[in-house]
Amino acid sequence: MGIKCSNTAEVYFENTPIPLENVIGGIGNGFKVAMAILNNGRFGMGAALSGTMRTVITKATEHATQRVQFGSRIDSYGAIQEKLARMSMIHYATESMAYMVSGTMDRGYDDYQLEAAISKIFASEAAWYVTDEGIQVLGGNGYMKSLGLEKVMRDLRIFRIFEGTNDILRLFVALTGIQYAGGHLKELQKAVKDPISNFGVLLDQVSKRAKGGLGIGPGNSLADKVHANLVDSAGQVCTGVDMFGGAVEKLLIKHGKGIINEQFLLSRLADVTIDLYSMTCVLSRCSKSLNEGLESAHHEEMMTKVWCNEAFERINRNLNMLKNPTNLENFKIMAKISEGVCERVSPVQGNPLGV
Ligand SMILES: Cc1cc2nc3c(=O)[nH]c(=O)nc-3n(C[C@H](O)[C@H](O)[C@H](O)COP(=O)(O)OP(=O)(O)OC[C@H]3O[C@@H](n4cnc5c(N)ncnc54)[C@H](O)[C@@H]3O)c2cc1C
Repeated sequence: MGIKCSNTAEVYFENTPIPLENVIGGIGNGFKVAMAILNNGRFGMGAALSGTMRTVITKATEHATQRVQFGSRIDSYGAIQEKLARMSMIHYATESMAYMVSGTMDRGYDDYQLEAAISKIFASEAAWYVTDEGIQVLGGNGYMKSLGLEKVMRDLRIFRIFEGTNDILRLFVALTGIQYAGGHLKELQKAVKDPISNFGVLLDQVSKRAKGGLGIGPGNSLADKVHANLVDSAGQVCTGVDMFGGAVEKLLIKHGKGIINEQFLLSRLADVTIDLYSMTCVLSRCSKSLNEGLESAHHEEMMTKVWCNEAFERINRNLNMLKNPTNLENFKIMAKISEGVCERVSPVQGNPLGV
């Protein structure tokens, strides 16, 4: 379909002897070596695709600021303005994420696989979205080979598939997060069994839950880390993290180890994680821009605030889906719909005209 400069071929290894001196990382550790290589590929995608999006946005705005339809330049119409604003915000978030992941690595952290996976998922979907919308802004011209965006679109499609499909990476993100929460939950279960000697742990949890129940949340612990103009957005991250923690805890209590098979739920947990990370990245970058008084700081502030408001809405929606009985029933029904289609190996319904 695309990336035609890169030669893609299948390589088979059947009964292939490997000389001992060629074994990397010890026998049986090949998967770890392969994963480490994929990790390295993933973090670069955010940076590369930020560049792609910058070019696409430039092409789309060049057209939008010149094309006149129904008596006005098309950039004066709300439908086009929303597209250009969303393309810019998602680009800003991707670029901020790429800087954050690189910064984490430059500061010497080895354990950046979760951030690299999030950034790969986010950047590959953001670039697809931006290019699709860019083509839409260009109208019929966008579909033409000569404008160059059709090639970008074909080349981009693979980014959601290779280096680990985004679907598998979403499971990886959710399950890695849950592993941490699971450890924390074990502490709590231990405390419940021996309430006297573990009273501190219990009290902490009870007061956290009580505050959560009253809607107070854990407080805005990021307030002093961001620029004063962004304190409300930082509060949304803190509330989101608290709600997320509560939701994971409830899921673990309900499903135990069986959570690894609950993919309808896991992919939504991953989306919440991705949203929380994207909010943190834009808040960090925008605070720096505001503190340094950059020329673009006000524009960045507008993007950051809208991004955080909308991400917070998505977080609420996704977390609600994990417990809403109608949604949970829908997930079960969808599994059955899929079974029906797979049984017939085609859509189940016939032609309504009976022909
Ligand atoms: C152009 C190109 C370049 C490539 N370059 C490289 C390279 O340099 N090195 C390399 O090693 N590989 C490379 N690949 C391979 C690529 O990484 C794989 O194609 C990709 O990881 C998906 O694996 P698969 O094709 O086996 O799909 P499958 O694993 O068969 O997946 C098919 C679908 O099922 C889903 N799925 C699979 N398992 C599960 C599960 N347990 N739960 C839920 N959903 C599941 C997947 O998400 C996907 O949607 C390349 C592929 C292409 C097309």
